[in-house]
Order: sequence, then structure tokens, then C-alpha cells
Amino acid sequence: MLRENLQETEAKIAAACKRAGRDRKEVTLVAVSKTKPVSVLQEAYGLGVRVFGENKVQEIRDKYEVLPNDIEWHMIGHLQTNKVKYIIDKVKLIHSVDSLRLAETIEREAEKHNCTADILLEVNVAQEESKFGLKTEEVLPLAEKIAQFSHINLRGLMTIAPFVENPEKNRTIFADLHKLYVDMKEKNIDNGTVSILSMGMTNDYQVAIEEGATMVRIGTGIFGARDYSGQGA
Ligand SMILES: *Cc1c(COP(=O)(O)O)cnc(C)c1O
Repeated sequence: MLRENLQETEAKIAAACKRAGRDRKEVTLVAVSKTKPVSVLQEAYGLGVRVFGENKVQEIRDKYEVLPNDIEWHMIGHLQTNKVKYIIDKVKLIHSVDSLRLAETIEREAEKHNCTADILLEVNVAQEESKFGLKTEEVLPLAEKIAQFSHINLRGLMTIAPFVENPEKNRTIFADLHKLYVDMKEKNIDNGTVSILSMGMTNDYQVAIEEGATMVRIGTGIFGARDYSGQGA
């Protein structure tokens, strides 16, 4: 099942790139493995997956302990400042920075751990009340502040689009975030480190790629439905 899902996802990514006249190499697939047991991640690893996305600090720590160390772990969920210290030296990219306070904490912890943290700013483009993320107009001012930090590389932007039946409905959201991303690149914020646009999930990643995503986060489409029973979540 996993093998077929991965092949199908890969084919759809390639097709979307082709439609958009883009090189397949411009798009990184993050396999979102949250709630899935280690055995399933091992199977995906065996099939060549090296980039995994998780949304809980404790889950990253547990999986990091037991899985091979050439895996790139991406923190894609809301991150509390008091938990930054547990993952700062374990994750390759934090997708979900949405405040100056969180960025300051990451800067401090990265300095302590003698590392540099790669981060994205999470933008609530659709302005959904229920979601975390910056307002569009807050992004460039915060980016300029973060560019001063010496232990953070600002790599780009991320959004979680609304769940919609028809993914075409999210096209303007992706196009808007792409525009903001291009603005950021043109302003040469953080000395040209900006090169990642993380948008698109199982339901809408093909549209996101057509609108310029360089990273897609796919869970259900690879691993199947998630089971939250017994987790209290
Ligand atoms: C769970 C999650 C995903 C993956 O969602 P699917 O619809 O299962 O592909 C992507 N991004 C974030 C931030 C998530 O929390």
C-alpha cells in the first residue's frame, strides 16, 4: 500500500511540475508521518523516504531516538516556546514560526546548542480564526527583524490552506503566498537564504505546485487516514 501511494504521489508531483513548466527537482516532498508508528516510518525509509514531517515535539523526540540518523525531521506543527530546546538540534527545518517571541527563543536555544536553525514563517493567508500564523502584512516586518539574528536562517514561508472539497478554491491563497515569497526574495532579506515555499497537503498539493510551491507536506496521501483514537487528540 505504502509503495503504491508513494508511486502515485510521485507521479502526481511530476505531472504538476510538468504542467507548470517546472523541474521536478524544485519540489521537495515532506512525508507527514504524525500519529504513525515507527514501523510504518521504517517501511517508508526502506522505500527511500528521508524527509519526514511531524507536528508534536514529543513524537519527534521519540522517533528521532530510534530511526536512522540520515533522516531529515521537519517540525510542521505549532511550537511552544518552552519546547524549542527539545528539538532545536534534531530538526532540519521548523515550518511554523509565527511570532517574534518564538523566533527569539529559537535564536537563544540555537546559540546554546551551537547550531543554526532553519525556519519558515507560517502565514495564515486565508485569515482563518482557528489557525495559527501571521497576517500577510506582518510577514515582511518580522522577516526583517529575524534577518538580524545570527543563529537563524530565514528560509521562506509556509501556509496551511483551508480544507476544501475543490482544491481549485485554494489557488488564489497559494498565488498570494507565492507573491509574498517573491517580494521577500527580491528584498534579499537574510542575505539570499530564502528559497523555500512550503504549501500544499494531500488534498491540494498539485494546485500548490502549479502556483510555485517548493515543498509539499503530504500525510494521508502517503500513509492513509490517521487514527487519533486513544490519543485524546
Ligand atoms: C497533518 C499536516 C499535513 C498533512 O496533511 P494531509 O492532509 O494528511 O496530507 C500537512 N501540514 C501540516 C502542517 C499538518 O499538520
